[in-house]
Amino acid sequence: MKRLLSGNQAVARGAWEAGCNVAAAYPGTPSTEILENINRYPEIYTEWAVNEKVALEVVAGACFTGARALTAMKHVGVNVAADPMFTMAYSGVTGGLVIVTADDPGMWSSQDEQDNRHYGRHAKIPVLEPSDSNEAKLFTILAFDISEKFDTPVLLRLTTRICHSVTIVEFGKRKEHKIKGYVKDIKKRLVLPAHARIRHRIVEKRLIRLSRYSDIFPYNKIEWGKKSLGIITSGISYQYAKEIFPDASFLKLSFTYPVPIKLIRKFARQVKRLVVIEEGDPILENEIKVLGIKVTGKDKIPLCGELTPKVIRDSLKRPYKRTKKPLRAPARPPVLCPGCPHRGVFYVINKLKLTATGDIGCYTLGALPPLNAMDTCICMGASVTNAHGMEKALGAEFSQKTVAVLGDSTFYHSGITGLVNAVYNKGNLNLFILDNHTTAMTGHQPHPGTGRLAKGEAGKRVPPEDIVKGAGVEFVKIINPDSLKEVEEAIKQALAFDGVTVLIFRKPCALLTKPKPPFRIDPELCNGCRLCLRLGCPAISLTFPKEKKRPLAVIDQGLCVGCGLCVQMCPRKAIVLSKEKENGK
Ligand code: SF4
Ligand code: SF4
Repeated sequence: MKRLLSGNQAVARGAWEAGCNVAAAYPGTPSTEILENINRYPEIYTEWAVNEKVALEVVAGACFTGARALTAMKHVGVNVAADPMFTMAYSGVTGGLVIVTADDPGMWSSQDEQDNRHYGRHAKIPVLEPSDSNEAKLFTILAFDISEKFDTPVLLRLTTRICHSVTIVEFGKRKEHKIKGYVKDIKKRLVLPAHARIRHRIVEKRLIRLSRYSDIFPYNKIEWGKKSLGIITSGISYQYAKEIFPDASFLKLSFTYPVPIKLIRKFARQVKRLVVIEEGDPILENEIKVLGIKVTGKDKIPLCGELTPKVIRDSLKRPYKRTKKPLRAPARPPVLCPGCPHRGVFYVINKLKLTATGDIGCYTLGALPPLNAMDTCICMGASVTNAHGMEKALGAEFSQKTVAVLGDSTFYHSGITGLVNAVYNKGNLNLFILDNHTTAMTGHQPHPGTGRLAKGEAGKRVPPEDIVKGAGVEFVKIINPDSLKEVEEAIKQALAFDGVTVLIFRKPCALLTKPKPPFRIDPELCNGCRLCLRLGCPAISLTFPKEKKRPLAVIDQGLCVGCGLCVQMCPRKAIVLSKEKENGK
């Protein structure tokens, strides 16, 4: 059977066919749908972990019992998981262990565009790179096999285009993987220095064997065309390069660390000009140059941003006849949804001219105009620690004008440790947890604060306020963010308190609640003062009616969810319930 699948769906299918027993992940674009799709297979135990390090440690434990286990994360998630990943290279696995990294060249939804193929070399683990969904499925299965054969975790590297593009996938059957059971082996798994020194030698020997295997790996293959131009490429870049240079010879690499040395030499010997086309850093290029082979690469192909056929064509000056004028979609910057429970808090932060250290998630959007309510955003959990560091540098007075803002899911991911640190170190942190009761940005995955588990069943709820109080915070308040007045009062109280304060603004995500009747703007009362626009609700805009001398605000009835926040902004009480509702229709 064949089906059209995205790369993420294909990885999930591959995990299922490979007999994967356990999977854990923390959501992050572009990797989120991998666990969401694995979740649909009842044979695989799945869980949303609180962060990527935890997810990897969970699947590591599973693989120690002989289970086949997988974790998936976005590229920056691997930074969080790097600690156990490097050690896993030493301890090895028992059942197969696959770590999927979904890189984001072009930074479509990320804070950087790191190339995680570096992690292969750095952690000394093999890297596989599929170039379409079918390979994503196939390589997931192969990754489990390689992991067990060589006793190592395997890094399966995808990029946004592979994760989210759909191509045809050939389905196979599930090969059940019997879990052998745990057998104690402390020399392997207890990496205290005496054991680790021995394991390091094993890792180096394993790399030599992996390098030989890379030479015979069937998906590292030469496709002969004209020998005037030879292209070495991997991943999605292979598809683009094929489109631009259909006549060239190709060495398509899929096992990209360690590189297949013999195969590269064989290919290079037979082509006149050698070009490496790879997205991100010159990783293959440098490996090839080390072999003493002359090659064109990043001197022509851009280092920054996502590659496209056009970028490759332009950088290598391939002549091109344009047949049609390309269509351009209008730019659509991201905004907080209409009725978003975070909006009022950001509005008040801006109004009070506070310094706000921000975090990753929907709340990053609070940085955009007109809210302009965010000063920093580094990584998950750094809102808390950045604010604490600023206070330690500038003194307690600074903290009376500073707040750290993060979401509920991020609080569990890595906000907790920063909070404990601030309490312990006598900080004056003011932490705002914007609790919308979900992981909203990645598609509403559950977390410990929701009490729901990955497959939808009820779990044990771990309320953030209990954790906060348990950490020793004395000033803890739960506020419904619907009332701007109450939000402002609570913030002022928190800022005046000496010590760590936590305000939990709790209201479910607007996308999870039934909309209330919409509001409209009475054109007779509105004087176009624009105050309601300061909220940045996408449902409100300004019009310039010909018959009126002044502008007029309008509310899009299809977008408004009736949150009532803008009603509190209007000094002329011009924002009223829609007529149909008033008439009881
Ligand atoms: S009530 Fe106002 S702020 Fe709320 S969704 Fe409607 S227009 Fe936007
Ligand atoms: S705040 Fe009121 S008066 Fe001012 S533009 Fe908005 S609806 Fe009109």
